[in-house]
Amino acid sequence: FIYLLNSNITLGKNGVPVAENFRLEQSTIADTVQAGQVRVKTLYLSVDPYMRCRMNEDTGSDYLRPWQLSEVADGGGIGVVEESQHHNLAKGDFVTSFTWPWQTAAILDGDSLQKLEPQLVNGRLSYFLGAAGITGLTALLGIREKGHVATGANQTMVVSGAAGACGSLAGQIGRLEGCSRVVGIAGTDEKCSILVQEMGFDAAINYKKGDVAKQLRELCPGGVDVYFDNVGGDISDTVISQMNQNSHIILCGQISQYNKDVPYPPPLPPDTEKIQKERNITRERFLVLNYMDKQEASVLQLCQWIQEGKLKVRTSRFTAFQSMMNGGNIGKQIVSISK
Ligand code: NAP
Repeated sequence: FIYLLNSNITLGKNGVPVAENFRLEQSTIADTVQAGQVRVKTLYLSVDPYMRCRMNEDTGSDYLRPWQLSEVADGGGIGVVEESQHHNLAKGDFVTSFTWPWQTAAILDGDSLQKLEPQLVNGRLSYFLGAAGITGLTALLGIREKGHVATGANQTMVVSGAAGACGSLAGQIGRLEGCSRVVGIAGTDEKCSILVQEMGFDAAINYKKGDVAKQLRELCPGGVDVYFDNVGGDISDTVISQMNQNSHIILCGQISQYNKDVPYPPPLPPDTEKIQKERNITRERFLVLNYMDKQEASVLQLCQWIQEGKLKVRTSRFTAFQSMMNGGNIGKQIVSISK
């Protein structure tokens, strides 16, 4: 089975994705595996916010190629090798790639795949798409590269999109790296309670209920020193208004703006920009792909924390892209192809 971009439903830069933007077809793959290739069975597919940008003709980023109509969609994926004509891969190996086709089975170029070691994540293979993959790297490297977190500095961190894949890890890593107080902002009471009870956040705010500014003032009495921003928009304007002098924004993502025709990163509204400048708050664009030289050591660090139980990981399966864009996930959203 293959998942394709559907040409019948217009999405446009300002549209909200719906299931009908995709269609499922049955197809056949080649009978023979050529030299250098492998035949794989897909186990997990990653579902990520950046895919919304790939649904525009112009993704707005040099590093993102737009999906073409009637082309098989692709993204992060994990599978198992069923037949190999590649010198370094054998039947039974688990492999991953950033450009895995949304197909239940495929013939892929072996050189495009990375071999996985399941024991690094206690056998939880799907973690390589989340906490031990790009998501975990984004949280860890975002904090290390842009957060200026220092042990003993008594810093308060706020995380928006806090119950999502990056956010749920960012709060925990902020604490592990030295923040003394971590407050999350998420879209349901259930998410907020998981953040506090399971993931060690000090407090969490449901941004869909009550006065966010007032709750934030009460929960961060010393102001905000580090802001891990996944969402942008009104939530971020509220957080920035409570940030301290010389504090730091980790500009991870701006999901509240992805269904809108705005540049990335979206400019701050004038009042918020004034605060940012007056208080010397850093807001540099962060892109995890710029730090791939640190990938190996960082993945090992993430795996160690997972094994030690210091990073709590949640995965949401079986729901899909439009559900994630609407808040349907807790932690990393993946599609599990086989049980
Ligand atoms: P995610 O947070 O697991 O999923 C998206 C979540 O965002 C939803 O569950 C929803 O939760 C929240 N959301 C959706 N629309 C929102 C809105 N209008 N306002 C506030 N919250 C909204 O996704 P993720 O993969 O971890 O990605 C998080 C952010 O990191 C994204 O912006 C993504 O683009 C970015 N990212 C950046 C890099 C990088 O290199 N910089 C790498 C990976 C990801 P609620 O229920 O809380 O609304």
